[in-house]
Order: sequence, then structure tokens, then C-alpha cells
Amino acid sequence: MTLTDRPRHDASAGETGGSLADQPTIECIDPRTGERLAVVPDCTEEQVRAAVERARAAFPGWSALSYRQRSAHLIRVRDRLLDRAEELVETICSATGKHRSEAVTTELMAVCETIDYYLKHGERSLRPQAVHAGSLLHKKAWKRYEPMGVIGVISPWNYPFTLAMTPLVTALFAGNTAVLKPSEVTPTVGLAIGELFADDRWGDIVQVVTGGGATGAALVRSGVDKVAFTGSGRTGKLVMATAAETLTPVLLELGGKDPMIVRADADLGRAAKGAVWGSMQNSGQTCMSVERVYVDASVHDEFVDRVVAEVAAIRQHERGEGDVGSMTFPPQVEVVERHVADAVDKGATVLTGGERLDRPGYWFPPTVLTGVDHTMDIMRDETFGPVLPIMAVDSDDEALRLANDSPYGLNSSVWTRDERRGIELANGLQAGNVCINDCIVSYAVTGLPFGGVKESGIGRVHGGEGLREFTHVKSILGERVRTPRELWWFPIPKGLDAIGIRTLRLRFGSNLRTRLGRRR
Ligand code: NAD
Repeated sequence: MTLTDRPRHDASAGETGGSLADQPTIECIDPRTGERLAVVPDCTEEQVRAAVERARAAFPGWSALSYRQRSAHLIRVRDRLLDRAEELVETICSATGKHRSEAVTTELMAVCETIDYYLKHGERSLRPQAVHAGSLLHKKAWKRYEPMGVIGVISPWNYPFTLAMTPLVTALFAGNTAVLKPSEVTPTVGLAIGELFADDRWGDIVQVVTGGGATGAALVRSGVDKVAFTGSGRTGKLVMATAAETLTPVLLELGGKDPMIVRADADLGRAAKGAVWGSMQNSGQTCMSVERVYVDASVHDEFVDRVVAEVAAIRQHERGEGDVGSMTFPPQVEVVERHVADAVDKGATVLTGGERLDRPGYWFPPTVLTGVDHTMDIMRDETFGPVLPIMAVDSDDEALRLANDSPYGLNSSVWTRDERRGIELANGLQAGNVCINDCIVSYAVTGLPFGGVKESGIGRVHGGEGLREFTHVKSILGERVRTPRELWWFPIPKGLDAIGIRTLRLRFGSNLRTRLGRRR
């Protein structure tokens, strides 16, 4: 795909009046081979504003549809997705290097699940709700959820389909229109998303603007009604600072350093397999990857032996076969190398992997480290690569303290045969999400709101909460019984203060003595 062979939603100079020759461009690479994959427009501020205007013009018509009518359109979008499944998988794999089956499950299936959830359960979350009017018995009160307008969606490269489509379709279900700025590392996936929404009647409800950080910043400044950002904490803070200038609300889905606690009573076979899958799938480039393990010292050695055996069986393959693909983004490979080197300098032992593979593309082998501690970057900063550091602990309390000793709080996991203790530890973890005897996969339960605490983000996707993220709640006070005037209007009736105190005591006193106004 090049500038001369661009899809309809590719916001290029041609659509905004400039000549093709003037259009700044960015180049992206197939990480499996290191070869050039595509050249796409690097959209300017003017192009971003034009896209926002098109989305804004589509808003009144789209938001006026009933939930059922919007659903009918989104079913058509899903059918298009299913018709093009093979093509989409290839687009995702060539942009990210990930395994084909991962593209099917964590990208296509995750999006279909989200659409399915909102088709079945979304309308209920947006229905107006009656609220008790308290002492104002002659009034009735209710709240209703209204679409916000145009949502700016800024997405990362690690799940370029899911993490763009999830906020997009959710915002659309809630009655908004949207402008997507996909990652400059994987823009071809963003353009393929634009094609899914190409439609004679509703083609403008989703606009796609490709480009880098400057294009993203232009979208934040463009007057959108909310920004749904998924990406690193560093950029998330910049987005929030820029959005603060116009008081634009933000949904921030940021990074994680997810802990895994393995108790002595855990099913160690399952825990070891889970730890390896949870840290290595998508080459560890998942915001909810298992990034650190705290295992009870009494089972540490057995757990480590099992992990190493599992890792030895992993097959890395360059054409989407085997188990694990390449990494996606060269600077991320450098972060992984830096974290491993820092850990080794401070005394960690590398049991498997440890150095990038000598072949074209961005390949890092599954790496297991022991002898780690919290002085090391590998236990504190997001590594975002196929690395599993394992630390022995003496008790549940120590495991919980270390798990919570982090600026992040996205996902986490507890592994034990004791359900009660597992739930207690889950309750004690400072995280937006916890899995018991599993990891990552809570995201697949789209009825569960997903998001982070601490520096892992603000707000939630999925569930009723995710849908309401893209609405304003309007509170309305109406009348149950009409009266000529309210008691507290002017002129204030004589003795209203005394009546007020008597009423307060009667209504809120916790015992008969107080209610009757008798002093103790
Ligand atoms: P990133 O922050 O570098 O980029 C994310 C997006 O922000 C890209 O589209 C980029 O072009 C854009 N951007 C860059 N500068 C900007 C600016 N000043 N204003 C507006 N937009 C700007 O993140 P990444 O490297 O693409 O993604 C990896 C990160 O995303 C990791 O930290 C990972 O944990 C996180 N992540 C979080 C979740 C989640 O749901 N919590 C999911 C996936 C990834």
C-alpha cells in the first residue's frame, strides 16, 4: 500500500486540497523481515481538523438513530470484518509480526466479542434511570445518558486492531462519531479499519488520520469532545496535559507491570504454563503481560524448573507459525536489552534467552531471569518484551507488599488451590483487574470493565462502565405533583426554621428520643 494505492479512508492531501506531492509521509516496516511495508500520509493539523469536522457533520444523524438502528449498522461492520478475516489477519501480522492465531483470537475475536456484548447488553446501560427524590416527595428525578459528540481515538501498535476498534465501536454504540489516529508503527491496520466503516450512508462516522505523535497531539487539540487514548504512561501524561488546556475529558489506558503471585499450594504445572504464556504471548508486548513473578520460596526451584522446560518448548517462527512471533518496534527491543543488562549487572541470572537473535527483523528469544529484586528496572519499569523475572518470597504478605510496590496497577494474578485465600489476595492487590489461576484473559470477558489504577490509567473500557465513558449523564428533575409554589420560595413562611428542625429530627433521628426532640 502506498500513497498512490491508498484506501478510501486514508486521509491524504488529495482530500483536503493539497497536492499529493506536498503530503508528508511516514514509512512503516514489516518487523518479521525488516523490509518496507508501506508509505502512508503523515497528516497535518489542518487534515486532522478537516477529519474532525467531517465526523462532527455526521454526528446529528448518527446520534438521532435508535440504539437498535445503530446496532444494525454495527452488525454490518462486523459482517464485513468476518468477510475479510484472512485479509485482516495478514494486515495485522505484517504490521506487528505477531502469530496468526494471536491475531485471530486477541484481535478479531476480541472485537467481535465486544460488539456482541454491546448488541446484547448495551442498550440497558444507556436507558434513563429513575432516582429517588429524597425529601422532595412531590418531585420525580431521573438521569439519562447522552452521546458526547466526536471522540478522538489514539491507539498503540501492540494490538492495533483491538485497541482501536474497542473504543471506536463503543463510542459509536453510545451515539458518538469518531476520528481514529492509529500508531505510526502500524498505520496499515488503522487504514483497514477505516475500510470496514466505508459505507454510502454512514461512511463519515469514523475518520482515520495516519501520522505520528504530532498528528495525535493535533487530534487532542482539535476540539474533540473526548480523547480515548491507549498507549504509554509517558504519552498519556502529555495527552492529559494538552487536553487540560481545553478541559477535554480523557480516557487513558496505559502501561502495566503486572505481578503474578504463586502460593506454595498452587497447581505448579498450571502456574508455570500460565506464567510462560502470560509473559511470552505477543512477544510480551501486552499491557497485561505477566511482567514479574513472586513465588513462595518453598516451591521456587520446582516452579523455575517447570518454567524453563516450558520455555524450551516454545517455537519462534517468522511466518506466523510456531508459538511466538517477532517483536514489533525496534526501540522496544532496546528497552528489553537495557532491562536485562541492568538486571544482570545487579546480580540476576539469565536461565534462557537474554540476547536478541541474529537474523533480519526484530527477534528477541523468550528469556527467564532469577535472582531478581526491586532495585532492578526489570521489576519496576514496564519491559514490554518476552522476559519473565522470577523472585522468591517468604510469605503471602511479602508477595502482596512487593506486588503493590509499583506505580502501576493494571492486571495481576494469584495462583492457589485455596479459593478463600485467593480471593483475599485478589482483594488486596492494587490493580484494576485480577485473575485467579489465570492471567490476562479477564479482558476477554467483555462484561467486566477493564482499566487501571495508579499510573495504569483513568477510566474503563468494556461493560456498562465502558459504554458510559462515552456519554454525558444528564440529571433531570421533574414534577410528580404540581404545587402553586415551593415552601422555601419567597416570602419565606414565618416559623419555617422551627418546622425545618422538627422535620430534620423526625426524618433523620436514629432513635425515638432524638426524633421527638427530647434532650438527653
Ligand atoms: P505510545 O504512547 O508511544 O503511542 C501511543 C499513541 O500515541 C500512538 O498512536 C502515538 O502516535 C500517539 N502519540 C505519541 N505522542 C503523542 C502526543 N504527544 N499526543 C497525542 N498522541 C501521541 O505507546 P505505544 O508504544 O504505541 O504502545 C505501547 C504502550 O501502550 C505500552 O506502555 C503499553 O503498556 C500501553 N498499552 C496499554 C493498554 C491498556 O489497555 N492499558 C493496552 C495496550 C498498550
